[in-house]
Amino acid sequence: MPASELEQIVRDHVHETPNFPSEGVLFRDFTPLFADGPAFKRAVDLMCEQIDAEGGVDVVAGIEARGFLLCSAIGYRLGAGVLPIRKAGKLPSPTVTETYSLEYGEATIEIRDGFLRPGDRVLIVDDVLATGGTMVAAASLLRRFGAEIIDSWVLFELLDLHGAKALADNEIPYKSAWA
Ligand code: AMP
Repeated sequence: MPASELEQIVRDHVHETPNFPSEGVLFRDFTPLFADGPAFKRAVDLMCEQIDAEGGVDVVAGIEARGFLLCSAIGYRLGAGVLPIRKAGKLPSPTVTETYSLEYGEATIEIRDGFLRPGDRVLIVDDVLATGGTMVAAASLLRRFGAEIIDSWVLFELLDLHGAKALADNEIPYKSAWA
């Protein structure tokens, strides 16, 4: 199947670094996409066209750190608010946290309390889906406020880590531009 226009743009604007940040990881850096104005605009427009926004999107939640770049642009385009989901310890209280397991150890994410309302329709965005652990934790955190996760979007999915299955198991709608 030929690549969609969105997939082609994303594939053409990635920088891959072997063994970063640790041995055995092929790091995908999308700075080439964010730094190319026309390509970034077109990618955001194409992503927004595919978001099921019929009932509206209240908030676009971005996962630290590269998800922030996407959520800001997508939120602006959709006329939605943006909400940063941060690694623990970066936000002043009151915050609400969610801890999840990593291959070795655990990680904690958090958001400011008081900015989500029950029933808010939320889209979650990040650059890369690997195991899906971060996205599942993000959805779980947002759902504790009564938010409805209407979709989640990443630029790239590492297929062999089965993140999409983790999302499906947790009933999180999901799209990736490239896998
Ligand atoms: P996971 O929770 O395993 O799905 O990991 C996803 C998070 O880790 C995202 O926030 C990504 O930015 C980051 N990540 C994981 N693997 C990679 C990779 N190969 N290249 C770039 N970022 C990655």
